[in-house]
Amino acid sequence: AGSLQGTHNFSEAPARYYSSEPSLQETEENGFKGHSMLAPFTAGWQSTDLHPLVIERSEGSYVYDINGKKYIDALAGLWCTALGGNEPRLVKAATDQLNKLPFYHSFWNRTTKPSLDLANEILSMFTARQMGKVFFTNSGSEANDSQVKLVWYYNNALGRPNKKKFIARSKSYHGSTLIAASLSGLPALHQKFDLPAPFVLHTDCPHYWRFHLPDETEEEFSTRLANNLENLILKEGPDTIAAFIAEPVMGAGGVILPPKTYFEKIQAVLKKYDILLIADEVITAFGRLGTMFGCDMYNIKPDLVSTAKALSSAYMPIGAILVSPEITDVIYSQSNKLGSFAHGFTYSGHPVSCAVALETLKIYNERNIIEHVNKIAPRFQEGIKAFSGSPIVGEIRGQGLILGTEFVNNKSPNDLFPSDWGVGSIFGAECEKRGMLIRVAGDSIMLSPPLIMTPEEVEEIISKFGHALNATEERIA
Ligand code: PLP
Repeated sequence: AGSLQGTHNFSEAPARYYSSEPSLQETEENGFKGHSMLAPFTAGWQSTDLHPLVIERSEGSYVYDINGKKYIDALAGLWCTALGGNEPRLVKAATDQLNKLPFYHSFWNRTTKPSLDLANEILSMFTARQMGKVFFTNSGSEANDSQVKLVWYYNNALGRPNKKKFIARSKSYHGSTLIAASLSGLPALHQKFDLPAPFVLHTDCPHYWRFHLPDETEEEFSTRLANNLENLILKEGPDTIAAFIAEPVMGAGGVILPPKTYFEKIQAVLKKYDILLIADEVITAFGRLGTMFGCDMYNIKPDLVSTAKALSSAYMPIGAILVSPEITDVIYSQSNKLGSFAHGFTYSGHPVSCAVALETLKIYNERNIIEHVNKIAPRFQEGIKAFSGSPIVGEIRGQGLILGTEFVNNKSPNDLFPSDWGVGSIFGAECEKRGMLIRVAGDSIMLSPPLIMTPEEVEEIISKFGHALNATEERIA
């Protein structure tokens, strides 16, 4: 069961076809009981699969599975291994720190040098506006969870106990802890988890191609979305809305770029009603778009910023929140009144994670990673966008080294392929077969390769994409 089939009449869940190996299931004869891990974002049947894709080692832009098969990692792990798979300086930074001080915490005015240095470095790199302080977490989800707590603490300190609701956007991804999943605008994150929490509201996804009205320009589309946001705020009561959270470019929702004038218009509305802006830069920070931060690319002036992933090139888990001086001041005076800012994690500012992140940022600067991204990104974008004419492709969109493709019937955003055809999954399997790993979500597929890619590796991705696309076209024709 579960081998690739060249027919529309798939009788099983389409995700089955994501594995390029024939999937053998648990049976009495083979005695296979599946693996013991309750795996994230994995269906039950996948956990009883005799052939999960087990990755064993990495090298530059490539990863290798336990059978020695080589894949170009066109998603950089989960949009995160910016410096690729075997950067010796990061390994050295980790081992040096492990030898010197594997752990000390940052509670009660005790801390470590790497965490102090890293906070300074992050603040100096963020130039879209001046930020005040940095708070460390272990992940992007924890960063966004912490954002909500910081904002509530801030509004309580200001005597605004009712200003507590958050507005996020449909199709956004902000993580999967209770609050981060609530902020996320993807139904799968909510279904059967009793989410979203009631204080979270969702407004429009800014996807021009999919949602614009006939004859509506990008600018008009942005105006309409800003008006919708304002109407939502007015309906709920501006005094009840604390903050708006947005990814500069939506990642897991399908790589959705803001339409022209979008952030300008949204920021004007937020300002009018004294609503904080949180930029979720977990994917976009540190060069992904060809600017150090997404806020630089779209002229975003946030009050709070979430980062993670490329902060350490994912070699160690770490997230960081940048907090504006205005909010920092209020948190400081409130914590003085209460005797403590009672929020933090054992591993907030973990010295090994911070040492690795410091070295990562140093490498970005020394090797001028932004310049490198801007050198290879045009060919990456043009090369993949050249496949836009395919009869099964609706839109290919991207910026810098992030790119999304949507498969639709008849080139129309409103004419989806039946979900049981599993077109996205077929494409993913065809890529995997050819030695390339990508992200598949329904009929939307995403690329976000390591920032260190060479021009040859860009060509390899384009070529594999093209062949996988041809094979997918043939299979669903
Ligand atoms: N925010 C964004 C924009 C993300 O893309 C992600 C993860 O993909 C997160 C938050 C959550 O980060 P983590 O998986 O580290 O909790």
